[in-house]
Formats: sequence, C-alpha cells, structure tokens
Amino acid sequence: MKQIDEHKQEIAAAEAGTPDAVEAFRIKYLGTKGLVKAIMGEMKNVPNEQKKEFGQVLNEFKQFTEAKYELLKESVAASGGSSAIDIDWSLPGDPVPVGSRHPLSIVRNQVLSIFKRLGFAVAEGPEIEDDWHNFGAMNLPEDHPARDMQDTFYINQNPAWLLRTHTSSVQARVMETQKPPIRVICPGRVYRNETISARAHCFFHQVEGLYIDENVSFADLKQTLYFFVQEMFGKDTRVRFRPSYFPFTEPSAEMDISCLICGGSGCNVCKHTGWVEILGSGMVHPKVLENFGIDSNKYTGFAFGMGLERICQLKYRVNDLRLYSQNDIRFLQQFTGAV
Ligand SMILES: [Zn+2]
Repeated sequence: MKQIDEHKQEIAAAEAGTPDAVEAFRIKYLGTKGLVKAIMGEMKNVPNEQKKEFGQVLNEFKQFTEAKYELLKESVAASGGSSAIDIDWSLPGDPVPVGSRHPLSIVRNQVLSIFKRLGFAVAEGPEIEDDWHNFGAMNLPEDHPARDMQDTFYINQNPAWLLRTHTSSVQARVMETQKPPIRVICPGRVYRNETISARAHCFFHQVEGLYIDENVSFADLKQTLYFFVQEMFGKDTRVRFRPSYFPFTEPSAEMDISCLICGGSGCNVCKHTGWVEILGSGMVHPKVLENFGIDSNKYTGFAFGMGLERICQLKYRVNDLRLYSQNDIRFLQQFTGAV
C-alpha cells in the first residue's frame, strides 16, 4: 500500500512533451510488463481477509494511471505533437521563395539614383492627360506634323482626354506649379498607337529630365548626360551628339553612346556603326517657358528623354519588346540576381 502511494506521486508528477514520451509512459505503467500489471500480480500474496480492500486500492490505482495517460495524450495532441524542447535549432530554415525585380524597374531605379545624386527630384503625373499638357504646352499645336509621330489612344467619353505619349506632360505640370530653379526627373509609362512587334509596342516607359535656372547652357546639358552615361554604362563609354529636331527644344540633339556589345568596332546591335542612340535632348524652347509664365530672357533650361526599354535592351541584351509585358517567368527569373 505504501509502495502504491509512492508510485501515485511519481505518476502525478510525470510529464510527456512528445508522442514518444507518452508511449514510454504507457509501456512503463500500463504495458503487459508494466507496473500496474506487476502490482496486480502481488494479489496472490495478499491474505484472504485483506483481498477485498487491496483489490479496491489496486483498481483505483489502475484508473488513476489510465486517467493520467489520457491526459498526457490529449495535451500532446493539442500542442501539435511536438514541444519546443524537441526542435533542433541547428537545422537550416525552410527556404522562403523570393521573386525578382522586373528588369525595367531595375533600370529605372539605376537611372533615378544617378540623377538624384545630381540634385534632381522625382516628379510623377497622370497617364490620362488632356491635349494641352501632352501636346499644346509642348509647342505641338493641333495641326503640327510632329503629332503624326505620336498617335495615341483617346478616351471615348471625352475626346479631349488621351493617354500621354511622353512624360513631357509631367514636365508641363511641374512648370505649371513650380517656380525656377526646377530640377526634376520624370519616370513613367507612356502610350502610342503602334502595331505590336519585337521593335514597337502600344506602351513603353520613359524617363525625362528637366533643368531650368539662370545661366543653364548646352555645356551643362552635355556634362550632365556624359556623367549619367559614365555612371550607367561604365567609364569607357563615349558619347556623341547629333543635331535633331523636337518642337519643344531648340537646339535639339540625339545622343549616341559607343556600342556596349562590340566596343565600337561594329556589330548587329549597332548596325555596324559602332554607335547606338539612347536619348533625345535639347535646350527648352523659349515658347514652352513662356507657356508657363517663365521669363525666357532670364531663365534657360535643358530637357532630355530616354526609353527604359532601350537602356534595358543594351544592358541586358533583351531583343524583343514584347518580353517585358508577357509575364513569362522564364524571362523574369533571369533577373533574380540583379538589383
Ligand atoms: Zn556594336
């Protein structure tokens, strides 16, 4: 009887944190060679007059042990079958799948960070624009032939609204609300009514820049863009400017860089010229400044614009514009390591 009391204390204090520990408890106390069976075997040694009393004590001890076993089983099941003690903290963690940045986002971030270092602030504007901000203010009146190059999509409910053809509309909105000095960089999606092919798409991405202050000259434009090219493509990259025409700048120039693929000796990408065109630029047309009440005798400025798909094509050799928007994981996964 004294032994049974001791065992009861031991059982009451027993703990089991795992299914294995619960099973060990069962084998030790309730198994065929367990303690309960062993004590019951003692029954034959008990004097007849005490058998009834001892039988009751034994039965109560058996029920007590079974109840404890059920309790341990339930608590392990409730904790999900394991306890903190059994976790091996030295095992490697479960891998968390990480996506990759879109190549256009990678290139946009690179471009923005370079211009931010030169003191340019990022400006953004709406993709649905009115005719004035997209064309009129940019010195492209309604009958201007340059509009033919920028056919776009018009909104049915109001034909005066359109999808912007360039981020110059953001420049317009900045000049409308800010006084010089102005130094902004404008990234964004733009639209053109083009047949979709490897070389043309109905939407693409631009980054434009605008700098207006006193005494801003073409030399500032050249030096700014030269710095950008060296940071973006490497110190060995050379640039050249070719005279061009845009309604909103005068004079205007296209900028080429030495071909990154062949280093200037000639290849398919540069059409064997050694040069590739990357952006358009020029001094802001006085008429554009006057459109926003900026005194063109006091202030001058330069502007430039580039297509991010073009930069991306040169940096990552993407040879088909459609790849950027097809969401093909085989294409997108290739940029996992790029930042
Ligand atoms: Zn080349």
